[in-house]
Amino acid sequence: TDQPTTRDGFAEPFLLEVLASGGLDAAYVRAEGNTLYRRGEDGEEIAVLDFVGGYGSLMLGHNNPEINDRARELLDRQTPVHAQFSRHPYADELAAELNRIVQRERGDDESYYAIFANSGAEAVEAAMKHAELDRGLRLSALTEEIDAHLEEVRARVADGTATVPPRVAGSADELIADVRRRNEEQLARGPLFLTPEGAFHGKLAGSVQLTHNPGYRLPFKSLAAQARFVPRDQPGALRKIVDEERPHLLDLVVEGGRVQVVERDHPLFTAFVLEPVQGEGGIHELSAEFVAEVQEVCAEARIPVVVDEIQSGMGRTGSFLAATRLGLKGDYYTLAKSLGGGIAKSAVLLVRKPLYHGQFELAHSSTFAKDAFSCLIGLKVLEIMEADGGAVYRRAAERGERLLGMLRSVRADFPETVRDVRGRGLMLGLEFRDQSDATADPLRQVARSGFFGYFVAGHILREHRVRVFPTSSAVNTLRFEPSVYVTDEEIDRLEAALRDVCAIIRDTDGARLAPI
Ligand code: PMP
Repeated sequence: TDQPTTRDGFAEPFLLEVLASGGLDAAYVRAEGNTLYRRGEDGEEIAVLDFVGGYGSLMLGHNNPEINDRARELLDRQTPVHAQFSRHPYADELAAELNRIVQRERGDDESYYAIFANSGAEAVEAAMKHAELDRGLRLSALTEEIDAHLEEVRARVADGTATVPPRVAGSADELIADVRRRNEEQLARGPLFLTPEGAFHGKLAGSVQLTHNPGYRLPFKSLAAQARFVPRDQPGALRKIVDEERPHLLDLVVEGGRVQVVERDHPLFTAFVLEPVQGEGGIHELSAEFVAEVQEVCAEARIPVVVDEIQSGMGRTGSFLAATRLGLKGDYYTLAKSLGGGIAKSAVLLVRKPLYHGQFELAHSSTFAKDAFSCLIGLKVLEIMEADGGAVYRRAAERGERLLGMLRSVRADFPETVRDVRGRGLMLGLEFRDQSDATADPLRQVARSGFFGYFVAGHILREHRVRVFPTSSAVNTLRFEPSVYVTDEEIDRLEAALRDVCAIIRDTDGARLAPI
């Protein structure tokens, strides 16, 4: 039941308190499709319609029967789940299938090696580490080349086949020492990542540095390399940041017997990491202009592009990758969430073959990653998505249009309450106007608490038995990520709930939002 027991409060008690204050502390006992069930006072099941969809992990719904059948079959057959350091045909097959789908969507024959992981954040960190390994190798090749040039200059000045022009330096030794000092200063600058403002890439020590929300990121700023956050709506902003930060190493060459100082590009940026449709930042699809600038600047400056499809991928926006429609092409892709079919914890990093370093396979691994169970469930998920010529993708697009149409109609009727509705496919958001200056006390207090969307969610759960949540970094935006099986009737129920909440906000009877 939902009743607290003496064992309540051991696991993350503070979060439970926050949920309770918003009336969101339900305990669910069963789940099916887009429905979660909690137990009522008399032990009966109470159905709650779920539009949160496991924060994107339930593209195919709760306890999808086909996926559960496959899981049961794997367990009944005593499939070895943990047999690390052995052949892993299931992982090869999953990686091959992902290659086939990604190639189809990119419209090219670029191949990718797969590194498996346990969570979205881990896949992002694997990308960060792989890109840093690559940057490090490129940097050592460059510094070795420069060292060789410096020694060559020393030898040639000594044997009289080259001279140092007086305006450059007093002596070859002085010049070489200067170049070395200047390069060491440069090299001491850490690597930097690039990511758009509003980005969310996880909460582990490395990935949290790429998560814009200061509340999540700043306490852990000292733990890992930093990111520069690029505005999404200012053409030229990325180029400016890259040009400002892009440093050079000094090198020496001999031309016509004279020693010259030349500048070499220092690969300071490890990678540009971005979501095609930002999820936790408030549901924002990248613009074609921004994507074009990212591709152009990154190609010029040789900065690898990591496309984080953890939330937007797996068919959610109407194609397997959300990047496809945007024409965004990555050197790396990350996938997680729905890859596990709602029951396995699974994530994968795809690395474009020409960039791949085999040594990474020992540098990054985990007890639980690449296990047979999650790989075989992942294959089942892909089989369902690819069936009937991609019916799941078409359905995600069609259901998304229907849901978006409903959200637009709510916005049209409550323009003073709803600021915007947006998104693509089954990754949609409704942003409420900021109520921090509302005249009604309760409404203003709710808005100023920093938990606006959670109070709205609490009301919708209590009064309508519909489960919604705001995005984690933009609490005025409710996110809707139901499964692809969402029905018209379910969309109608959400509509009734949203219209009710909008009427409450418009009529500034905000007290009904907060059960405090
Ligand atoms: N990247 C994106 C785009 C995400 O939406 C999320 C999770 N919301 C993550 C990374 C982190 O995934 P996980 O929660 O599995 O660590």
